[in-house]
Amino acid sequence: MVNIEVQLCGLVFDIILIFFILRHESVGLYSEKIFKLCLMVYTICVFLDIVSVFAISYSDYLPEFVVAILCKIYLVSLLLASFLGFVYSFCEIEYLRENTEFKLVLKIILGLAISFILTLPISYYHSGRIIYSKGPSVVATFVFCPIFMVASMMITILYGNQMSALKRRGIRLWMVVGMVAAIIQFIFPQLLLVGFGSSVGLFILYSELENPEAYLDKETGRFSFDTFNLYLKQEFAYVKKFSSIIICNDEDWKLDEGTEKKILVEMSEYLASFRNAKLFRLQNNDFALIYDTKPDIQMDEIESAVNLDVIRQRFKMSWDTGVDLKTKFLYMPNSSAVSSVDEFVDVYMRNRDVFGKDEEMKVLDDSASQYVREYKQMVIEIKDAILSDRFEVFYQPIYHIATDRFVSAEALARMRGRDGKLVMPNKFIPIAEETGLIEQIGEQIFSKTCECIRDRGLKEKGIEYIEVNLSISQCENPQLSVKYDQIMKNANIAPQDISLEITESSTLNQKQILLDNMNKLMNIGVTFALDDFGTGESNLNYIVDMPVKIVKFDKNMVQDYFKNEKAKVVMDATVKMIKELGLSIVAEGVETEEQLEKIKSMGIDYIQGYYFSKPLSENDFIKFIDDKNKRIGA
Ligand code: C2E
Ligand code: CA
Ligand code: CA
Repeated sequence: MVNIEVQLCGLVFDIILIFFILRHESVGLYSEKIFKLCLMVYTICVFLDIVSVFAISYSDYLPEFVVAILCKIYLVSLLLASFLGFVYSFCEIEYLRENTEFKLVLKIILGLAISFILTLPISYYHSGRIIYSKGPSVVATFVFCPIFMVASMMITILYGNQMSALKRRGIRLWMVVGMVAAIIQFIFPQLLLVGFGSSVGLFILYSELENPEAYLDKETGRFSFDTFNLYLKQEFAYVKKFSSIIICNDEDWKLDEGTEKKILVEMSEYLASFRNAKLFRLQNNDFALIYDTKPDIQMDEIESAVNLDVIRQRFKMSWDTGVDLKTKFLYMPNSSAVSSVDEFVDVYMRNRDVFGKDEEMKVLDDSASQYVREYKQMVIEIKDAILSDRFEVFYQPIYHIATDRFVSAEALARMRGRDGKLVMPNKFIPIAEETGLIEQIGEQIFSKTCECIRDRGLKEKGIEYIEVNLSISQCENPQLSVKYDQIMKNANIAPQDISLEITESSTLNQKQILLDNMNKLMNIGVTFALDDFGTGESNLNYIVDMPVKIVKFDKNMVQDYFKNEKAKVVMDATVKMIKELGLSIVAEGVETEEQLEKIKSMGIDYIQGYYFSKPLSENDFIKFIDDKNKRIGA
């Protein structure tokens, strides 16, 4: 019996691996493909190893050239195996993968190595169970294989930061095992360990990295969100065009765990039935179907559209135990709408939460990513403006009907762009609120307002107080009252000079903190106003709940008053009620003289609107007040 036990073990190992890998659907990742190729070549290599051992042991009966060819083919396969190992180690490093010179050098080295192995002489040794080949051809193999192995090691050192720690470790272990086997076999040629060693190495790599299970989401057995990221990264790297349907489910179905899991599995099985698409489980309970965009089919045509319609129909029906879920869909007909995985995920995350009331599907096109890009740009600009002190306060005068004077003003934030242009609040306030940056902006605006009150002597000019806006997140910050108290102290102004505007909002979670803040500030003399009254979110109850002194009618409500008879009746009654509660009213958005006269006759106390003035820069505001309130000093 020839000594092929070790190689047979290796062969069995490889075949088991092949079996496990073929059982799973492949993601289609490049590294996955190279790994499979490695596995095939390694298996063939171990097989050829066995064949060559037989050939040598029967060399007395076989023509000399047949034995030589069989042995050399084996050596070439060994070389290819270590070469593929090298390819595997750099396949994710874009710089090398896309580098034509690097690839040319590789081809030359490989070509040289193969021609050396094939042309150099080879001889054999066999005595009983000890069988091996030797000679210059074998030496060439044992020179070139380690070169590729060492090169793989070098990749993990030089480009290690571009691969996962797992991959780095896996490749190093693989190469160490392979090299140890090669060294032992080189020193003791009778120990034919190389084939087996490589199989063990592959097995390590398989269990650490290329195990298809690692690509799966445990709950549904579908590709995971991490895999989704890897896959799309590759698709973008190769500029592949694809379409995607994202199935957006509520984060919380409010069902018991067992039922939820059942539905998830049922859903994923249904979605996986679309053979032309890859299915991924995303965050929460979302899924994504990704499929190639057929270049000759128009975006809105047949296949993809049919799929989406069919899917939407299915999701209108119930799942499992009759559960109806209000699933929504995001449809990106063409991946060119975004330029990277990160952007894709940004667009997806932004859109998954903002469906209109009866909206069930949204198409994600260039404008969706455009929005996300602008959003991110605005975040950067806001941060920059905060750091470089580019927020300015504009003041819109507020007119007091009873005394026919301007007694107050609202402080309104403006952002000065790097180009010197003014950016209006509707561009940056919503984004600042969403990102929490509003807290810093709010503080800057408040400090500047306080300084203006002090430095410009507003009190002496007849301005009793300035209105300053507070956003929800500021109100929910337990530190607000302490901070604002400190800012007023620093500026050396009286709290009575300030009225803070709050708004009612369904997103207010910490009402108690807001009330605590209000009470602390009211105790030192600050007053509060309720802003945006008459917009969707506010109601009379809120006025009862909140210790405000002033109610500000939103400009839309004021405008409606002039247009709509019903709105007029409601507003007249509202004014009456608010007055009975002992509160003052500011009407915003008064633009014409006619409107002014009507408002005056309603019992409203103050007017803020373009009729008198738009918000003005600090200097213009001072001029305005000096001009209009002249009589005060007289
Ligand atoms: P707001 O608090 O309701 O402020 C009143 C807005 O109505 C101002 O817009 C003002 O210019 C506008 N306005 C006043 N009179 C008229 C009128 O007669 N016609 C029309 N069409 N508009 C009028 P602005 O300055 O663009 O501010 C928009 C919003 O941005 C503010 O609405 C407020 O919610 C927010 N905002 C501004 N500054 C700040 C701030 O410092 N902090 C916070 N949290 N929000 C701010
Ligand atoms: Ca306001
Ligand atoms: Ca307002």
